[in-house]
Amino acid sequence: MPRKILLIDDDRLQFHLTKANFGKFQGEHYELDWASTYEQGMEMLMSGNYVACLLDFQLGERDGLQLIREAVASGSRTPIVFLTAETAERVDLAAMEAGALDYLVKGEITPRTLERSLRYALKLGDTLEALRRLATRDQLTGLLNRREFERILTEEEERVRRFKHSLGLVMIDIDHFKAVNDTHGHTAGDVVLREVARRAAAQVRTVDRALRYGGEELALILVQTDRAGALDLARRVCQAIEREPVIVTDTLALNITVSAGAASMPQDADSGMKLLNAADKALYAAKGRGRNQAVGFSDI
Ligand code: GH3
Ligand code: MG
Ligand code: MG
Repeated sequence: MPRKILLIDDDRLQFHLTKANFGKFQGEHYELDWASTYEQGMEMLMSGNYVACLLDFQLGERDGLQLIREAVASGSRTPIVFLTAETAERVDLAAMEAGALDYLVKGEITPRTLERSLRYALKLGDTLEALRRLATRDQLTGLLNRREFERILTEEEERVRRFKHSLGLVMIDIDHFKAVNDTHGHTAGDVVLREVARRAAAQVRTVDRALRYGGEELALILVQTDRAGALDLARRVCQAIEREPVIVTDTLALNITVSAGAASMPQDADSGMKLLNAADKALYAAKGRGRNQAVGFSDI
């Protein structure tokens, strides 16, 4: 299947010109789709079906810079090459700052320059994605890292205030994990940690976030989730870990349990920091009550 490129341009002629250029590419074969308005372009771009996007500067009322910013803010990672009739340096720099990976002046485009630009944008897009992953994910578990935890919590706290949503937080800690390391070795501990992370993350919706908060402590940030919803999910995580042993090697399977604390904003806390505190206290209570259980902050 040829890879698909999206052209967002309100001019039909540009679509035909680009299609003709695609037909003359030497090495690569791409399929070209066309969106003629800002809204349609945004929707197609966010579908995630495209490996790259060619974007016109002028799009009726609004401009392409605005579209790039909106797409990036909505989480789009698709590499964008900016097209413009203007040669003004101002647009060039503004496009790069907004997140475009390259910039082409419409009148100067040839099949060679277009093919080359797309190839570089795709390669650079991959590299950026790998760097982003390194910066935001924990290597062992693949979950989001501590830095992301703080960033997301601040962002979601703001959303709770602005839109009057609720926000759930579940803190999870593996029970007697030190004993796993001491008895079976650190490598076995790593396998357990990875599997616990996988099972915990599998319990949340795609809009939620699963993170590694610290050593063997995980966090789940649950959007639009109240006190009852957070506690319910915390219980499900405990069950998902307890239900079946973790297979460490062919000859070693371990029964693992976790304790979890749940809290929600604004019910249990009026800030992100207080929410973390509340969930932590609830987790501590779960440990105190014998482990392998979930406790809500309002129940301690
Ligand atoms: P509790 O039930 O009270 O939580 O007891 P615990 O033994 O789990 O708690 P403690 O905090 O004493 O031990 C946590 C252990 O987790 C200690 C540390 O060596 C281990 N640990 C932290 N990060 C990693 C990791 O990445 N890999 C492995 N294998 N162990 C880790
Ligand atoms: Mg522990
Ligand atoms: Mg711990």
